[in-house]
Formats: sequence, structure tokens, C-alpha cells
Amino acid sequence: MRATSRDETDVLVIGAGAGGAAVSKRLSDGGIRVICLEQGDWVNPMERPHMYDSWELERVRSWDWRGNVRQAPEDYPVTGNAAPMMMSGVGGATLLYAGAWPRFKPVDFRKGTEHGVEGTIDWPISYEELEPFYTINDAELAVARRVGDPGNPPRPDGWGPATKGGSLGNLVGAGFNKLGWHWWPADNAILTHDREARLACNDCGFCLSGCTRGSIASADVTYWPRALNNGVDLRTNARVERINVRAGKATGATYIDRLSGQRHEITAKIVVMAANAIGTPRLLLMSAQAGHPDGLANSNGMVGRHLMFHSWAADDFWFDRPLEGFKGVETAVAYSQQFYNTDSSRGFVNGFSLQVGTSLGAANSALGTNTGRRAPWGKDHRDYFANHFGRHALIQVQGEDLPVATNRVTLDRDVVDSSGLPAPHVHYEVHDNDRRLVEWGRTKALEAAHAAGNVVDTATTGVRGLSEPAPGWHIMGTCRMGNTPEDSVTNKWNQTWDVPNLFITDASSLTTGAAVNPTSTLQAVAVRAAEYIKHRFTDIVSQSVTPGNADAPTM
Ligand SMILES: Cc1cc2nc3c(=O)[nH]c(=O)nc-3n(C[C@H](O)[C@H](O)[C@H](O)COP(=O)(O)OP(=O)(O)OC[C@H]3O[C@@H](n4cnc5c(N)ncnc54)[C@H](O)[C@@H]3O)c2cc1C
Repeated sequence: MRATSRDETDVLVIGAGAGGAAVSKRLSDGGIRVICLEQGDWVNPMERPHMYDSWELERVRSWDWRGNVRQAPEDYPVTGNAAPMMMSGVGGATLLYAGAWPRFKPVDFRKGTEHGVEGTIDWPISYEELEPFYTINDAELAVARRVGDPGNPPRPDGWGPATKGGSLGNLVGAGFNKLGWHWWPADNAILTHDREARLACNDCGFCLSGCTRGSIASADVTYWPRALNNGVDLRTNARVERINVRAGKATGATYIDRLSGQRHEITAKIVVMAANAIGTPRLLLMSAQAGHPDGLANSNGMVGRHLMFHSWAADDFWFDRPLEGFKGVETAVAYSQQFYNTDSSRGFVNGFSLQVGTSLGAANSALGTNTGRRAPWGKDHRDYFANHFGRHALIQVQGEDLPVATNRVTLDRDVVDSSGLPAPHVHYEVHDNDRRLVEWGRTKALEAAHAAGNVVDTATTGVRGLSEPAPGWHIMGTCRMGNTPEDSVTNKWNQTWDVPNLFITDASSLTTGAAVNPTSTLQAVAVRAAEYIKHRFTDIVSQSVTPGNADAPTM
């Protein structure tokens, strides 16, 4: 169908989530004209269950983190065997996230050398190269942390103390100490004092419904206000259906205004994809055209492959004393990375973090907290509740899953979204290595809990695959950056090997997934890519630089 209007810009960014927000703001700081297209709209967190007696029940019954279950017109369906949690709106999945803010460790950038299993490759950059961009990004978000973690390179202070761990953090921390294991209070992208229009966390515990105070650093309250102030043209309800290419160069994109149904065309000197690790490969595959029969940037067949989600299990522990874990941030309180590095004598490669999380409120506790353990109804209910509610700690095993080529996103032309565009199809199998890793990790979670105190009851999810509701909130790796045009989709500057003025700056560009939450790393990578684009704008546009991994002069 023909487009009804045309616009022109320097850089077109697709997707207004974590990666798209960071890149739009950073480019516009440098005076570059940016248009960003987002299929969703602005979202007010109060639209989701909050602040009334039945909010927890409403969150379970009338709302869902999975687009497939919500089926809002701005979402797209995902077929296959996974149940990814995503959000379509200004801020993307950060509108739902918990703000846990660990960084990848130096070893994460060298996994090809460390073990190379299933074709795992080294990143084309090191932790040290990325470190300045982590720091820039942390300052934009005002990350709360306690400095001095002995298990990680130094991270800067300056944006407030760590969020409170409370009695729960103290108990589990004492357990780790007893065992002599590494542990540290978690970094969180959650304000512990006011900053501009954002208010400090008041410990209300509603984090995963979206924060009504702006305490959690979702992209709508951090990057977007400043990007708009810089003059970025953010268009909402704008669903991109195709990246356009002429003579090997991206010329812009065609989008559908979801409200009017009309098509528009944007011409741009550079196109940046940030539609997440399912949306970006979907759009690249949908953009097959003359000269690119298998989709854009896909001459080596790598687009959509190496999907990662983190291998995972959650364990609930109930102790013989009150811990009040329902107060405070609904996320990581502390973590242990004692078993982070590969030790093949354990029978698997890679490692895991033990993430200590807070508890849910009364309704969720009765309905099964994290692992599905329900309070009995009838005469035993009161006793169960008295012995469980407020006495609970969550320990999650968050493992690094292997980047397996057959775990991938393809197109399903039999199912379409509300604009008639084909759905992505996800195929993901838990690798035996990852299953062994999580099973072993669970024994360590158990050991930590027993060292911490008198455990009176336990429940577990066991190793979770993606046909179940969780995990599926960390979606990574489907357009990985790498070292050669054969092993990856982009070079170390997030520039696709095939189309030199096409960049990818969301979680799909992560080469490996590490054993920690990914957003601090994907945003640091996005900020770095924006610096490169700013620095070499004329060369990229004139194509006097072909994609390679040479260092940019004076970067
Ligand atoms: C419940 C939950 C809890 C989480 N907790 C944490 C946490 O504590 N710490 C952490 O680090 N991470 C967490 N995450 C993950 C984090 O939210 C993601 O890593 C991050 O948002 C991914 O960023 P992205 O840029 O790749 O994509 P997104 O943030 O998902 O943004 C992609 C955007 O692109 C838009 N889009 C897609 N297709 C199109 C199209 N065709 N046209 C126009 N727009 C399009 C989408 O609507 C979306 O807004 C959590 C996620 C969930 C769901």
C-alpha cells in the first residue's frame, strides 16, 4: 500500500523502550535530528492495579505481563513455545521492570574463550571498553547502590544509598556470611532521594505494576523527558512495518498509524532498531525485499538466532521469625555471585547469581507467592497464614543460558497483529547444560537459606522452561554483535555488517546474556553506539567507512 505522507530526519529510531530511549536522548544531546516511532502510547502506571485493597488480586486477574494474554491492540501476538513478557508503550518493558541493576562482569565478555560451548563467542568489546558508558547511563537514571562490592570492578557512588534490605536482607546476608560466600546489597535503578520530578521510593512494594512516583527508572521518566526537551520527534501508535533500502543503504521506514490506519514513510540518513529481541528480528525478517530476500542484515542467516532468556528457578523459604519482606522494593535486595564463573567440575559451563528478592503481599501470599504454593482454605487457613505471611524470603537462581542457534525467532504468517502484520514465532528449548546449572544452583539456594535461619517450609518452581509463564522477562541475543561478518549480525559499534547505516541498539545485540539482569548493559551499549554515530555521522552517511571492528578515531 502507498504511504500517505513523507517526512525526513537524520536518524530514525524504531521502538521507544530501554535501548531506543537511551539512543534517542544521546543522539539529540549532540544536535542530531531524531524521529522515534513507537507502536504503543504513553502509559500511566495508575492504569494498572495500584493503591486499593484488591490491587494484588486485580494484578493477577485483570492484567498480565505477557502481551499474548493481554492482547491489547498495541501488542503483537507471539506464537511458538514461549510466553515472553513485554510491554508496548513509551518506555517499553521498563514500564514493568523491577529496576534490578547489576552490571555484567569482565568474564562475561570472554565466554567464547572461557568455554566456547554451542558456538558461544567472545564479545567484540571488553568490560573496560564499556565501563564509561555504564557510568554515563547510571548517572542518567540515578542508580542507588552501596559501593565496595568485592566481587565486581569498582562502580561509582553519587546517586544515593542502596535501597533498604530490611530484616530479610540482614537474615540472608548473615547466611551468606556464615558460609563465607560472596554477597552484596543489590544496585537498583530506584531513587532513594528525590530527583527533579521523580520522587524517592516510599517502600510501597508495587514495583512490577509500574511505579506511580517515578522512583523506578523506567525510560518514560528518565530518558524521554530530556529527549523531548532536546527536540526528539516521538510518534506514538506508530507501528513500523518495513525498513526501506535502496542500493544497499537503509533509506528509512514505512509505518502504520494504528489509530487512523494510514501508512506514512520516513526517510532517514541512518536507521536504528530498538524494538527488542523479538520485535527487532521480526521487523528485519518482515523487511525482505529486492537484494535482501531473507530479510535485512541476514545474509548469513543469523537474524533471530541465539535467543536467550536466562535459565532460572525460584525458591520460596519460610522462616520461624517475622521478616516483613513485603515492605520495600519488589526486586533484588541482595545477590551472591559465589558461583558465577565456569567450573567444569560441576558438570556444566557458565554460572549463576543467587538473587534474594522481597515477598509479595497478603493476597499473593495466599495465592502462591512466587512458586504456586497456595494457602489451604478452610480451618487450616489461619494457621498457615500466621506461620507463612511476613516470614518469607525468595531466592532465585538466575543462570546464564547458552546462546543456542536453534533457539530463535522466525515469522509466523498464519497469525497477524491488529495491523495485519505477521506474528513472530519463538522456539526455545532449555539446554541440558542450563538445566544442570539451575538444578545445582538450587542446592546452593537451599544451603544459603538453611545457613540464614530456621527454615520451616519451602516450595520451588523447579527449572523453568519458557512454555510456562516465567521466566521470559529478559529477552536477549537475537541479533548479536560479534567479531566477523560470519559470526554475528552487527559489529562492535552495533552497525549491521550488511547495511552500514542500519544499527541495532536493544537487547538483541547482546552477544551473551551473563547471569544478571540485562538492562544496565543494553543501555550502556546503546549509549556507546550513539556516541559512535554522533562521532562518525558524516562517514556513516557517505559510506566512506564500511562496517568493521577497527577503533573509531579519538572515541
Ligand atoms: C516483569 C519484568 C521485570 C523486569 N525486571 C527487570 C529488572 O529488574 N532489571 C533489568 O535489568 N531488566 C528487567 N526486565 C527486562 C527489561 O525490561 C528489558 O531488558 C528491557 O526493557 C529491554 O529493552 P529493549 O530496548 O530491548 O526493548 P523494550 O524495552 O521492550 O522496548 C521495545 C519497544 O519497541 C516497540 N516496538 C516493537 N515493535 C515495534 C514496531 N514494529 N514498530 C514500532 N515500535 C515497536 C515496543 O512497543 C517497545 O516499546 C524486566 C522485564 C519484565 C517484563
